[in-house]
Amino acid sequence: MLERHVDNGVYLSNFIYLDQWVKCPKCNQPCILKYKEPQTPKKNRYQGIFLLSCLHCAYQINPSQSDTAQLHNGHYYATTYKRCQKCGGAWLSAKQKLLNAGSLPPFIQARCHLCQHISKFEQFGLNFILDQNIGRTIYGLELYLKTPTRHGEISVYNIEHLKELKTYIQAGLRERTSQTGNGSYFSRLPAWIKSTRNRKEILKAILRLEQMASTIQPLTNK
Ligand SMILES: [Zn+2]
Ligand SMILES: [Zn+2]
Repeated sequence: MLERHVDNGVYLSNFIYLDQWVKCPKCNQPCILKYKEPQTPKKNRYQGIFLLSCLHCAYQINPSQSDTAQLHNGHYYATTYKRCQKCGGAWLSAKQKLLNAGSLPPFIQARCHLCQHISKFEQFGLNFILDQNIGRTIYGLELYLKTPTRHGEISVYNIEHLKELKTYIQAGLRERTSQTGNGSYFSRLPAWIKSTRNRKEILKAILRLEQMASTIQPLTNK
């Protein structure tokens, strides 16, 4: 019987703002990168902090004690999504990488694909966006739960991520609800992971990851 999987809008950020399993940059042993929620409840999840304290070699990363700006595996971007200032017809997405979050550009710009006019937006938001460096996470740390396949590498942030991926791969019938946009985790997965032809191989890879996870499980039961 076909298993059914409904994507109700799972985003990669659901797994990023949780404890993550990484390799210690000093001794290479598996350890947990702890996620601490922001103190003020109204703050966004991305304002939480990540702490690393290796149980094997005692190596630590604590952003409040050291300048970890260069360790971040990502950059701040000024971003906005507004209509073209000339024709008003097209929605433009403007995005500019910032070299440091303390110096903001006076405006960010985007060219309209309908009228070719370049709109300059003085109001924008600031977002920290992880570099799309597969298998790496914040502070440039290497994810622990990753395994190669013939098509590419599969990596997950934590058990929650692994479980969600497994349910998706196992399902014969994959559906999306109408609210689920193109930004959802599953819609962004590479085609080779989604291809039903590769299902057996991907499931084997997931089993390998489950085994890896079970060997260090006691670490999480502190
Ligand atoms: Zn270590
Ligand atoms: Zn326009």
